[in-house]
Amino acid sequence: LFARPCTFFYASQAITQLPPLAGPEVAFCGRSNVGKSSLLNALTGQKALARVSVTPGRTRQLNFFRCDEGQLILVDMPGYGYAKASKTLKEDWQGLMFDFLRGRPTLRRVLLLMDARVETKPADRAAIELLSDAAVAFQICITKVDDVKKAQLEKRVRELEAIVKKRAAAHPLILVTSSETGQGVPELRAELAAVARL
Ligand code: GDP
Repeated sequence: LFARPCTFFYASQAITQLPPLAGPEVAFCGRSNVGKSSLLNALTGQKALARVSVTPGRTRQLNFFRCDEGQLILVDMPGYGYAKASKTLKEDWQGLMFDFLRGRPTLRRVLLLMDARVETKPADRAAIELLSDAAVAFQICITKVDDVKKAQLEKRVRELEAIVKKRAAAHPLILVTSSETGQGVPELRAELAAVARL
């Protein structure tokens, strides 16, 4: 899937202007600063695929990337939970996200990124709620695991496992990754390849 470069092909700022349904999609979402851009770049091996953000909470659009000539489409969703975001921006985000998640027949899975270094925040719980309510298959992927001790990571995994167990839409396997060291990136690629074949 990632042997050839992935290419950006569409940006959408409103639910009325989504690209045509062209193949299986996996969406990446998480709190601002969770490491989403870094992970997308590590995953594809492309340094500037998703811009590593200097100003969190800025991107409000959905960005679509075609991988392996459309075998899989990656959707980069705007980060949520940015404290300084205005109320309108937050509402826009929720509206766009919810509409997209609910009404996208080609969306096969959502990867919900969680920072290894911080506990599950209310915005993360809200995202889990939203995904569960929309009955979208989602999978949790922990980021930045290079930056925590083993015991802290185990605690984080157990915490998230407990949350996931109660959700029918959640994938039981929690991915553990670092864009810095590349840990878990092959496993993530394998998971996405399996999703593309579903
Ligand atoms: P985004 O806002 O979710 O797209 O997050 P970014 O990819 O822009 O990353 C946010 C910050 O976390 C940046 O300062 C990154 O350097 C840092 N970061 C991202 N991934 C990792 C990682 O795997 N390990 C460590 N230690 N830091 C990371």
